[in-house]
Amino acid sequence: MTVRQVIYLASGNAHKVHELPRLADAEQLPVEIRSAREVGGMPDVVEDTGTFEGNAGKKAAALLPLLPPEAWALADDSGICVDALDGQPGVESAYFAGEDGDDDANLAKLVRVMRDVPADKRGAHYVCVLRLRATTGLDELFTGTCDGMLQVEPEGTGAFGYDPLFAPAGYGQTFGLLSPETKQALSHRAKAWNALADWIRSQTVR
Ligand code: IMP
Repeated sequence: MTVRQVIYLASGNAHKVHELPRLADAEQLPVEIRSAREVGGMPDVVEDTGTFEGNAGKKAAALLPLLPPEAWALADDSGICVDALDGQPGVESAYFAGEDGDDDANLAKLVRVMRDVPADKRGAHYVCVLRLRATTGLDELFTGTCDGMLQVEPEGTGAFGYDPLFAPAGYGQTFGLLSPETKQALSHRAKAWNALADWIRSQTVR
């Protein structure tokens, strides 16, 4: 690995692009995180594989041809799996309320379909799969999950997506209310990132 490996985020999601470099800073890794915007923007990808791993692989592969040869592409595919909905919306979380991927409409739909579900059946977990690819054939997967409960009413305006409804296990408040630092310590994205960080460190000590 070079002294500071350049990693481009294969994502057009501003919230993910905001959260991931914060994790990199926190870990003080020898990496430089860049946005797909710096190479012309994230190409459109049809997320049709039916798995987090497959969709993340498509996103990373779509960005690679735009990158300098030595750079890596890192994709995040994530979602919320709701127990009372047999794990839905899961990999389809971005499109729960329709094709346009509107966060507010997705949240409103989850509030609506969960309205009459009793407190003891409101379990859910977030999943994040990070997939790192390079033109050398490098292809690594890192997964993180975060267990919690869905509240009846959304609370807070922090974070994004389903966060105003999701209270992580052990906390009586949603990610919408909790601080960015708390989300950074607990989230599915942080856990996947920690696994990636361990892997990067294992490469640099060789
Ligand atoms: P995708 O990975 O681009 O398919 O989209 C993931 C979708 O899952 C987002 O649009 C959000 O709706 C949801 N999601 C993923 N991670 C989070 C999170 O950390 N907070 C809230 N919602 C999330």
